[in-house]
Amino acid sequence: QIILSVRDLTATVDGNSILKGLNLEVKAGEVHAIMGPNGSGKSTFSKVLAGHPAYEITGGEVTFLGQSLLEMEPEERSLAGVFLAFQYPLEIPGVSNLDFLRVAYNARLKHQGLEEIDTFDFEDLIQEKLEVVKMNPSFLERSLNEGFSGGEKKRNEILQMALLEPKLAILDETDSGLDIDALKIVADGVNQLASPDNATILITHYQRLLNYIEPDFVHVMAAGRILMTGGKELALELEERGYDWVVEENVAEV
Ligand code: ADP
Ligand code: MG
Ligand code: MG
Repeated sequence: QIILSVRDLTATVDGNSILKGLNLEVKAGEVHAIMGPNGSGKSTFSKVLAGHPAYEITGGEVTFLGQSLLEMEPEERSLAGVFLAFQYPLEIPGVSNLDFLRVAYNARLKHQGLEEIDTFDFEDLIQEKLEVVKMNPSFLERSLNEGFSGGEKKRNEILQMALLEPKLAILDETDSGLDIDALKIVADGVNQLASPDNATILITHYQRLLNYIEPDFVHVMAAGRILMTGGKELALELEERGYDWVVEENVAEV
């Protein structure tokens, strides 16, 4: 089953061309890592998938489960099963984490034509999910992300993912301050939630994250395109040799 298909995607921001013909196919059961030097367009790609309004799509196609993703509103994408962590508001004072999660969960049920979950059943469900991220239940009573540490935000992101069980999770590890504990939280969550029915795209320039997550494919992105694709061993080679050789070997194509 093809979950995501990206063909010749081009996009601009403020009139600058950033994505320059990106191709990617993601099937059910796969974990893809996208690596690449700073400024290569990795975050732009994830924001385009999320439907961020600052990015203009100038060409190409993206389908999610056979539907045109680019024609869907950001919220529809999420309801249909695309999970993008940064799509969620960073801090919402006065809204408890528990309330936020319940609203998000019920919105998904409604979208599927199902009834809202009973409050007590939701408490049971959330307890189960808390174990995935080894999170303290007191966490649920706090305002969403208010005063959360970097590690706690990560944990919360994975909790949202565990609860919503997306078909496609896209995690952009933009936070260069991600410490080893936060890396492990992300890795454990991704590993536990990956199944034959879903897929994960992990965007990172930290090879060390891939010490904990075994990707099926490693892609190297540079200058707005995916220049090279390999298996997990490619990540090790990149750690050793850097990115320049990939760009040089593919220079005719850039
Ligand atoms: P990466 O995540 O691979 O480091 P980005 O997608 O963040 O790369 O950035 C790719 C390029 O697009 C960079 O040159 C960056 O400066 C530019 N860019 C990204 N977002 C914007 C924006 N909102 N306005 C202007 N330029 C941007
Ligand atoms: Mg960057
Ligand atoms: Mg980035």
